[in-house]
Amino acid sequence: MSRDPLDVIWRLADSPDPLLIFEDLAGMPRETMTRLLELGVLRESTTATHVVCDACCDDHLEQVMPVKYPDGKTRFFIPCPQNGRVEVSCERLLQWRVDYLPLLDALASALSVTGRPSEIQPGRVWNLGRAALAGKSKLVWAARGLAWPDAEQIGAALPQGRSLVLFFLGLPAEDGLLGITRESIIELRTVMHLDGELVIDRHAIEAQLADIAEPPAKTRTRKQTQRDATVGALKRELHERILSMKSAVRNADRTGKPFALPRVTQKELARAIGASESSVCRAIRKSGDRELQIMLQAIEDPDMIRKYSS
Ligand SMILES: [Zn+2]
Repeated sequence: MSRDPLDVIWRLADSPDPLLIFEDLAGMPRETMTRLLELGVLRESTTATHVVCDACCDDHLEQVMPVKYPDGKTRFFIPCPQNGRVEVSCERLLQWRVDYLPLLDALASALSVTGRPSEIQPGRVWNLGRAALAGKSKLVWAARGLAWPDAEQIGAALPQGRSLVLFFLGLPAEDGLLGITRESIIELRTVMHLDGELVIDRHAIEAQLADIAEPPAKTRTRKQTQRDATVGALKRELHERILSMKSAVRNADRTGKPFALPRVTQKELARAIGASESSVCRAIRKSGDRELQIMLQAIEDPDMIRKYSS
């Protein structure tokens, strides 16, 4: 059993129908279970109509038959080819459903979001409202199922622009699918834990959001403007190269063939963007452009190339 009491919630986040059976919660300490029920993260659901036989080793699924006894009590049974009629304890019939709203309410309140969370797509996409984060006003949204086949439509439902921050549950979206900068997408499990209450690491959220590159300030010297242009051209060039390497790397992964990354030099980059080698060298050393630094690292690292989003 994992030490994170919310682990079962995160593990189920990619299930279209997040229903837990008795066995799913077998290893969970009783106080954790009670707390999750009190918080409303788990809710009792209808009882199971079918269970897997635990009297033999065949894992066969059987319909539960209730039998009313003369003392007024109902007992439950399933048929087993090896053991005949097998009694099933009432406990094994219990089921719970995950409710994500209490998690999102806790997030919204920790971020002092204004407005009430609203469900845009039931159990899938939520608009939590607006919050001041990292010195900016942000639109706070949440979603799960970002890796499901229809995930593209989530991107279409989200507001466009730089002021969005998206918290997600479950697996992340494929690179570039949502059209949001990487820094604006935060996995909820990395910033939330259960410690009696649902606790949010606001500091971690703000730190990540502060990493988003600022648009250039209005007053720039001529030298700075030239350097910005070189940085921009370099980034466009690197972007194209990384994307084409990405498809080559992915192709090599698929076919199991080794792939040697071509070496990229400043001289060659300078030629490609029609600038002098010294201006490229200065742009790289002095601009302090974080995105450029990441791209320069990425182009030499197959792992970063695989994860690169456009
Ligand atoms: Zn059996």
